[in-house]
Amino acid sequence: MSQARLMDGTALARRSTEQTAARAAALTARTGVTPCLATVLVGEDPASATYVRMKRNRCRAAGIDSRSVALPAATTTTELVRTIRELSADPAVHGILLQHPVGEHIDERAAFEAIAPEKDVDGVTFASFAAMSFGLPGFVSCTPGGILRLLDAYGVDPAGKRAVVVGRSAILGKPVGMLLLARDATVTYCHSRTRDLAGVVGEADLVVAAVGRPRLIKGQDVRPGAVVVDAGYNAGNVGDVDFDSAAERASLITPVPGGVGPMTIATLLEQTVEAAVRQSGVTGV
Ligand code: NAP
Repeated sequence: MSQARLMDGTALARRSTEQTAARAAALTARTGVTPCLATVLVGEDPASATYVRMKRNRCRAAGIDSRSVALPAATTTTELVRTIRELSADPAVHGILLQHPVGEHIDERAAFEAIAPEKDVDGVTFASFAAMSFGLPGFVSCTPGGILRLLDAYGVDPAGKRAVVVGRSAILGKPVGMLLLARDATVTYCHSRTRDLAGVVGEADLVVAAVGRPRLIKGQDVRPGAVVVDAGYNAGNVGDVDFDSAAERASLITPVPGGVGPMTIATLLEQTVEAAVRQSGVTGV
């Protein structure tokens, strides 16, 4: 029987997006500016196309315009960089999202770096990563940002907690660990070369699973009373945590789907409106 309380990302994302929509409307009323997110999709990968469509639909519902740039799979790095630079220079665009992965023939880093930092609402540039590391203003990678918002909403204060992050990707594992560190958690990273993963996870007050391996973390690995955040999303709507067994030991746990995923998009929308407010130079919105 499940004992953990669910961290309901769907409900929190809905509330957060209502606030974002109200802020977008206030900006438009004050300045005539409607926040605009440009989405850039290279090629025809169906999953990527679905993600972009979903993000654009959520934008619309929140009073954010979106501009869709769809490029053929054969687009070169030079062409992609040029397109993104044009969006970076366009005053009508406030945020830029390059859906990744892009094709293997493209230098993805060069494409990310063509995004102006003030429009990097997906938090993928070196500048955003550095700002986050130094605790300076900037935009965070959306999934880590969404996880911190979820923890805050459920009253989980990372300070002094032993946090174990499983996964160290540049967009998810690494930044979520750094955000937890900035909030005074004692952070351990695990990855594919970690010895005794179960033993390390078993020490944690807070576990963040960001791996992409279905049900890798078992309930028996979870310390009784720990907080479990599952960022994994695998085929068949399955997370990186074995939900049923982990829920018997955890105090709080995110479901998959309906936990971290909705918070990622909510953070993207929030950061897009924040970018538009900053670029409009208004205060008090
Ligand atoms: P990634 O780039 O493939 O990174 C996976 C990480 O997991 C790597 O650091 C890897 O270690 C580590 N790893 C792999 N096998 C492991 C094992 N057996 N034990 C311990 N660590 C292991 O993936 P990602 O982009 O960070 O995504 C991770 C998961 O989050 C995926 O399921 C993805 O779909 C999901 N995700 C969800 C959202 C959302 O909005 N909900 C957003 C982004 C990603 P090495 O570094 O040693 O290779």
